Parts: sequence; structure tokens; C-alpha cells
Amino acid sequence: MARTLRTGEDVLRWRRLRLKHFLSRTIQRVPFYASYADGELGNLPIVDKAILLANFERFNTMGTTLEEVRAVLDSGEERLGKLIVGQSTGTSGNRGVFVISDVERFTWLGVMLAKTLPDIPWVRHKVALALPGYNQLYASAEETRRLAIRFFDLSLGVESWRDELLAYAPDTIVAPPKVLRTLAEAGGLQPRNVFSGAEVLDPLDRAIIEAGFGERVREIYMATEGLFGVACSHGVLHLAEDVVAFEWEPSPGSSGLFTPLVTDFTRSTQIMARYRMNDLLKLSSVPCACGSPLQAVACIEGRRDDIFLLRSEGPLVMVTPDVIRNAVVDADRRIQDFRVIQMGYDLIELSLTADLAPQIGEVVAANLRRALCEAGAADIEIRLKSGITIPMDRKLRRVQRQCRPELT
Ligand SMILES: [Zn+2]
Repeated sequence: MARTLRTGEDVLRWRRLRLKHFLSRTIQRVPFYASYADGELGNLPIVDKAILLANFERFNTMGTTLEEVRAVLDSGEERLGKLIVGQSTGTSGNRGVFVISDVERFTWLGVMLAKTLPDIPWVRHKVALALPGYNQLYASAEETRRLAIRFFDLSLGVESWRDELLAYAPDTIVAPPKVLRTLAEAGGLQPRNVFSGAEVLDPLDRAIIEAGFGERVREIYMATEGLFGVACSHGVLHLAEDVVAFEWEPSPGSSGLFTPLVTDFTRSTQIMARYRMNDLLKLSSVPCACGSPLQAVACIEGRRDDIFLLRSEGPLVMVTPDVIRNAVVDADRRIQDFRVIQMGYDLIELSLTADLAPQIGEVVAANLRRALCEAGAADIEIRLKSGITIPMDRKLRRVQRQCRPELT
């Protein structure tokens, strides 16, 4: 699909065409959009997870209710009639939920493979895929003459299938960065293609994974909501503008970060139009050397709901996750992992790995305090902790806001 889009003009023309079809045919199939018939994307309301969950049955063609989906998920199943149901890996009771058809799921996988391995028609690949949402669904291996895919269940933990993975000896691995890092550190694998997905790829992890595998890590920007971008052979993340229309909202508390509103052309069971993602992106202002006309992303800096809200002399100030991350890792180059959790408006918990001396913790805390002061926060207590565990059953968020209220 992307191969036919050679110039920026091609991308715009394609977007116009797909949007026209999407707005005039697809969205009217669900009650939520029944009254929107003027064909203008900008006239559709901006929606988010809360709006979707509150009106769930009005967003899908089958009239499937949130209660029906939750009942299926609670019983450990993934099927509701002809549909596949799923949820995001969030920890709160406010998880994102979706219904899709088999065709849509295969389209997703096909688009991802076409973007990650464009030489599939000519070169045989052995792919190992360990991603949330691909557990029971594809328990058996898929194999054709040109492509073998084996699915590894994240929820079982890496240890339970490490031997099987080693014996399989994939040339391509697609997994969250914490899994890639675990595998790279353990050794024994020699993949030629390494793709990181489902979580933000931190430069800390990138360095360790690339050193371990001796290959560049390429990032896939994806969520339970869809596939939004894949890094090219130059390692630059390009948005999947051939399957999704992106609009951008400036992030609160930052001049350089943006949150995408996504309209997914590939989805027709549950409509996703002008859906506000939870991510913070920095877009690249220069075209990529690979020649792709698809918008390049400089980096994904974390999640919108992890923007810290901190006490100041006046109203609460917002500090974006990139500021916090940089203050920590720039303090000492021995830092290999960390967590910063906002516990209250004036309380932050900073954890470092247990191998670091306590003095390093003090230096990091001082650097973090300085960065928060510069951002306008005042009288913030930073509580130091030693020791870190990696959550394999849910999303790793190094910078995390646990205190409420939600950002509006
Ligand atoms: Zn590129």
C-alpha cells in the first residue's frame, strides 16, 4: 500500500480519497455517527476513551454493549459471536476495550508485516511475535512458503517460552522493549530484524538491545487501538498515513509535544474517528533520508495521562514525561533503569536499581528537583527508593502519574 505513495502530494491525495469513502459510507453504519453526513472530518466530534466507553454500543455495527464485552473478557474468552474482543493493558478499571472482526485483525497483521518486512515476496522470514492481544488468538504457528510466524504469549512470561524461542531461531522478532531487553541480555539469539512495539522505546533500552543483538532496533507505534507507524530501514519512525488520518493537538505543558487524533480507515466494525490517543509525540521537521513521504516522528515521549501535575506558588504546573526522564538519565550515565511516580501534588517517588550507590540517588534527586523548579513547581518532596521490578504482565511506564484527578 505504502509503496505507491512516493510524494507528499500522493499521501494527501490518498488521504482525501480514503476519508471521502470513510465519511460517506463507513461511519454511517454506526448510530453514533448516523447524523454526520456532510463529509467533513473536522465536523465530527473529538472522542476519547471515556466517550467511547460511555457510548460503546453506539460505536460498533453490531450494537455490542460494553457489558457484553466485559463479561466475555472476565470469563477469559476473546470471542463474542463473530467478533474478537480485547482490552488495553492498563491497570485501572478504565481500560480501553474494542471489538474487531477477523478480517480487520488480519488486515492489521498484514499491514504491519508489509511495513516491517517489505522483502517478504522475495525472502523467506521466520517471525517471532510477542505482543499483547496475540495470545490465545493465534496459539498455533502460521506458516506459508515465504513466511513462518510463531506467537509467544506475553502473559506467561519470557522464561516459559525462552527455550522454544531459541530453538525456533527467528530472523525477525517483534516484542515490547522490556522483552527484547531481557532476550538481548540473555544472549543466544541472532535476529536480523528487531522490532519494538506496544510500549515506548526508551533510549536506555534501545542501547542495551542493540548492543546485545548487534542490530538496529526499529520501533513500531501501535496500540490496542491500531497500528500507527513503523520505523524505516534508517531507524526513523514513519506514521502509517496510508491507513490512518492524523490530526494533532498541542500537549498541555509543552510547546514541542503533540497528541494525535486518529481516524483509522481499516476499521469498520468499531468506528475510530478523531479518537484522541494518550501519547505524546515530537514530530520531525525534516524529511527522512529513506525518501518516504510519510511523516517522520522524532520520538514518542510517553503518555498524556503521565504528565505530572505539581504544586507551585500559583495554580498546578504541568511537567511532561520527557522533562522528568531527561533529568533522571542525564544526572548519571550509570543509570540503566528508573521509575519516577507522582504520588501526590507535592510528592514524587524516585526508584533506581539496587546496584547504584545511595549517593547517586541523591544526585539524581537533586537534578530532578532542579528540573521541576525550572518548570515552576515548588516544595516537591522526592522520596528515594532502591530496587526496581519489571512488570511483564502490563505496560512498563517509567514516568507515571498515579495521583488524580485526570488531566482535562
Ligand atoms: Zn525513513
